[in-house]
Formats: sequence, C-alpha cells, structure tokens
Amino acid sequence: MTVTGTEHLDGIESGFEHLRTEVRAFLSHESATGGFVPDTDSWMTGFDPGFSARVAGRGWLGMTIPTEYGGHGRSPLERFVVSEEMLAHGAPVAAHWIADRQMAPSILANGSEEQKRRYLPGIASGRSFFAIGMSEPDAGSDLAAVRTRAVDNGDSWTITGTKVWTTGAHLAHAMVVLARTDGQPGDRHSGLSQFVVDLPHPDIEIRPLRSIDGQAHFNEVVFHGAQVPAAALLGKRGNGWAQVMGELAFERSGPERYLSTMPLLRAWAAHLAATGATPGQRQTLGTLTARAWALRRMSLRVAAELTAGRKPDVLAAMVKDVGSTFEGDLVEAVRASSALVARRGGADSLARMLAHSVLHTPVFTLRGGTNEILRGIVARGLGVR
Ligand SMILES: Cc1cc2nc3c(=O)[nH]c(=O)nc-3n(C[C@H](O)[C@H](O)[C@H](O)COP(=O)(O)OP(=O)(O)OC[C@H]3O[C@@H](n4cnc5c(N)ncnc54)[C@H](O)[C@@H]3O)c2cc1C
Repeated sequence: MTVTGTEHLDGIESGFEHLRTEVRAFLSHESATGGFVPDTDSWMTGFDPGFSARVAGRGWLGMTIPTEYGGHGRSPLERFVVSEEMLAHGAPVAAHWIADRQMAPSILANGSEEQKRRYLPGIASGRSFFAIGMSEPDAGSDLAAVRTRAVDNGDSWTITGTKVWTTGAHLAHAMVVLARTDGQPGDRHSGLSQFVVDLPHPDIEIRPLRSIDGQAHFNEVVFHGAQVPAAALLGKRGNGWAQVMGELAFERSGPERYLSTMPLLRAWAAHLAATGATPGQRQTLGTLTARAWALRRMSLRVAAELTAGRKPDVLAAMVKDVGSTFEGDLVEAVRASSALVARRGGADSLARMLAHSVLHTPVFTLRGGTNEILRGIVARGLGVR
C-alpha cells in the first residue's frame, strides 16, 4: 500500500484487518493457554524471551527489516497493527521491544554492512535484545552534555563513563552507546558518536537500580575503560547527535506512548460488564474511551507518515505528551471510580493490575524524554518563539 498522507485513516487501516485478526487469535490462544498473564506497562516490565521467540516465529519481529537481513520487508503500518494489539492485550514484549523499535531502524540507517548482517537477523528472530545507552547522571534531558568518552586506539576504542536508567542492560546482548569522541562537553552537538557494544563485557559493570515496586528493570552502567573493536562505531564519527535524534524519533513515536495502561481499562470494562456499572462509572469509561480513540487516530497518523517516508517529529512529540499524560489519568480515573483497593498480592487480578499501574505511573511522562522537553519540540516545530 502506498501512503501519500492525504488518505482517510480508515482507508489506510482497512488493508490490515486480516493481520489484526491473526494477531488477536494468537494473543487469545497465548493468554488462554498460560503463555502470558496480561499486565500494564508490559513493554517495559514483561521480559519473556520465550514469548518473544514465539512472536518472531509468526514473523512479527523485524517486520520492517528487509528480507536480505532476515526481516520481513513489511511497512511501519503493519508493524503498528501488531504493536497495538500486543500492547492493548498487555503481552510481555519487553525483551525484544527496544531492539525491534529503534535499534533495527537505526542500524539499518547508519550501520556498516557487517553490523547489519551481524545484528539484524538476531533482532528479527527474537534472539538479540538491546539496551539504550543515552542518559547519564548529568545528561538526561540535556543529552548533548554526555561525558562518556571513547578514545580512538586505531584498531579499537576505549570507552569510559557512566550511563544511567539503562532499561534491560542486565539482560541485553548489546547496547548502543552515545559517547564523546572529539572535543569537550561544552562543544555540545559536535564530537559525539555512537557505538554498538556487545554485552556482557568484562570492563562494563551493570548495577541494578530498584524502582518503587522493588523490581530492577533498569541499571547504572559503568564503563571502566572498556575496549571495543573499531568496527563497533555506528555510523560516522562525530555524527552521533544527528543519529540519536533519528533514533529518538522511533523511540517516541509508537503506540506504547498511550497504550501502557490500556490493559487496565480493558480489564475494568470487563469487570463492569460482569458486575454492573453505575452511571458515574459509565461516564468515566466513556470519557477514557473517547480520549483513547482520539489518541489512536493521532498515533495512526504518525505510523502513516513513517510509512510514507516522512519524519513526523512534531506530531510524535505531541502524541507522546498527550498520550503519556492519558496513561496516568486512566489509572487515577479507574482508582477513583471504583471500590477497588490496589493490592500487589492476592487473588484479585484487577486489584493487582491496578497496584502495578499506580506504582508505574510516575515514569510515563519521564521515559523517552519528559513532557516539558516534548512541549519545547512542539513549540519550536510550530514556530512558537
Ligand atoms: C522508566 C525509565 C526508563 C528509562 N530508560 C532509559 C534507557 O533505557 N536508556 C536511557 O538512556 N535513558 C533511559 N531513561 C532516562 C530518561 O530518558 C530520562 O530520565 C529523561 O530523559 C529525563 O532526564 P533526567 O532524568 O536526567 O532528568 P532532568 O533532565 O534532570 O530533568 C529533571 C526535570 O527538569 C525538567 N527539565 C529539564 N530540562 C528542561 C528544559 N530545558 N525545559 C523545561 N524543563 C526541563 C524535566 O522535564 C524534568 O521534569 C529512562 C527513564 C525512565 C523513567
């Protein structure tokens, strides 16, 4: 399907109903046979390599990677359909999420032929998981301030520095690291480069950081003068800033930026259908559903723009800002509108899901770029000074 950007969104979607039906049947079977227990924020916390392998077996990983690199040569819109269903059903997609979402397109765009052949088939077959090495203790929103340094030894690089909030680094097979190769932190956007670093590595220490629920999904990663081969450089030396901006476009633009808590809404709706809803609960459900639908249309437009080969940065920033706010509002609305008491243990799966969602709400508007930063991008994109 060719997307020009002028079509009606319904027309764009109608071509993929068969795929959607297939994914739904797969997920129903998986959840009915104990393949997974639906949960919120499953794209960050639901790490299940077995599930990832089964998804890969259906051809739903590396969908947009060309077949010559082990992928399936399909469109971002088809990938959107699969992602949306996985997220709405709370499937455990965390193991492959980062690799499939942003590392595959980044390696495709910037990688050497050797890197493409080395990493892309593993991503498409659900065997190669990645971590994102951007943030540092003094460089989160202000990524240009990274201090991690890579020194050129001719046939290798020596990397020294500390990354933080590195999701899944303890389980990943590789990490893409943003480091300064030239100049000083004051040089800002120039002198930065990216590296694909295989993990584990004897001189890279990965220390768990525990979140409020006691789980350790992210890490502090310390590079103690870690040597990596010259071939680990991703793209051009000094072009790291532009490459990272391209990678962030993929990181920020997907439906996970408004669907993290959708499994809670679905579970609550099923609960109300079974037990009966008050007029107030109906109103809350209707309001949340209307907001989700509007967000879905915006998110679908982002996928359509990507399919057309355009860069919908401003729209993606807008969807992430409004969407991640919605994710938290949804949790609070369900909590306030029901007699449910959030409990981390016990037999009530809805109460457990609510507890998990409440504890995760603070991260929604931070990860992948805070809402304040996104609003800056939107304002600049709209020409507001
Ligand atoms: C769950 C989770 C997972 C993450 N996973 C990863 C990962 O895998 N890899 C990775 O590299 N990073 C990861 N991060 C880090 C994330 O990208 C950063 O937390 C985020 O970019 C903010 O950076 P910071 O924490 O340094 O906050 P800061 O930049 O210190 O910001 C603090 C506050 O100041 C505000 N602020 C900062 N600058 C401005 C400005 N110019 N204008 C207005 N307000 C501003 C921010 O909005 C924020 O509210 C993760 C974060 C979370 C919460």
